[in-house]
Amino acid sequence: MTLTDAFQRPLRDLRISVTDRCNFRCTYCMPREVFGPGYQFLDRAEILSYEEIARLARIFVKQGVEKLRITGGEPLVRRDLHTLIVQLRDIPGLKDLTLTTNGSLLRQQAQKLKDAGLERITVSLDSIDDEVFQAMNDSGVPVAVVLDGIEAAKEAGLTPIKVNAVVKRGTNDHTIVDLARHFKGTGVIVRFIEYMDVGATNGWQLEHVVPAREMAERIDAVFPIEPAEANYRGEVARRWRYRDGSGEIGFITSISEPFCGACTRARLSPEGQLFTCLFGVKGHDFRELLRSDKSDEEIAAFLGSVWRVRDDRYSEIRTEETARLPKVEMSRIGG
Ligand code: SAM
Repeated sequence: MTLTDAFQRPLRDLRISVTDRCNFRCTYCMPREVFGPGYQFLDRAEILSYEEIARLARIFVKQGVEKLRITGGEPLVRRDLHTLIVQLRDIPGLKDLTLTTNGSLLRQQAQKLKDAGLERITVSLDSIDDEVFQAMNDSGVPVAVVLDGIEAAKEAGLTPIKVNAVVKRGTNDHTIVDLARHFKGTGVIVRFIEYMDVGATNGWQLEHVVPAREMAERIDAVFPIEPAEANYRGEVARRWRYRDGSGEIGFITSISEPFCGACTRARLSPEGQLFTCLFGVKGHDFRELLRSDKSDEEIAAFLGSVWRVRDDRYSEIRTEETARLPKVEMSRIGG
């Protein structure tokens, strides 16, 4: 089964955000001034239960989704996350089940997640420099804790491990070569992400973006690299390999080279709103359908009606103007 949108893009990936809460306050994502003690997070009753998520996931996979990524907020702060993995792992037709985390709670949970059926993992780590990293996460978590989490994931066999680093000019761009150096030759694939104008709270400006080309040049000057083929159509990261054979890195070029034309992703918020674009303003309510007496077929039909008319291509039409739209926060739909 293949659902295609208004530009013939199939629905292949579903990113499921299981919570809007996070134990980090990354300045570019959940700035403390906005997400402070007074911030109203979702109530427990508002967010989808694991059973509701699993039911939706089954419906989505039947409609052609092959890959599920669990995200947040910080997914590992939601209790007993491994019990959700158990409910997802055997969905017929599912080809890839993965998770994105800040890594701070991985040491405690890596093995449990692996045993539950998680295949691999992506860990966010913006800098290998402790001072820079702590200034960015604004929650006092040192690099060593995340590195230990990555080690735990390795020991548990949650591989291949990817490390995502958001690069913001003047904040951490002077540390990208060190991050590359740290993981070179270890099998961990570092992906540098251009800082994006997601949400409406991070004060994004174009001048904060370091284009992938510039990042590649800086790394190439120290560790020569060459472009590598994409693994599959629609792969988000542009792959490069070290010329000395010691592994690969990637760049996510949402700003400098938008890839909307190949976007096969939908995103589910913790309260069951489906967004057909990372830069979406309005979601589609699946929770109401789940909590009424609608059948799986009726929910699938609603999904079809949403996806078939999808014509989002935000990154291709981005301007300083659109950057100010009241877009959904990344901490709600998880990137
Ligand atoms: N808490 C988990 C984590 O840290 O990976 C999952 C959710 S987090 C929102 C997912 C990813 O989005 C992280 O790698 C984060 O750095 C990235 N991110 C957040 N805001 C971003 C922005 N403005 N531009 C680019 N990436 C961003």
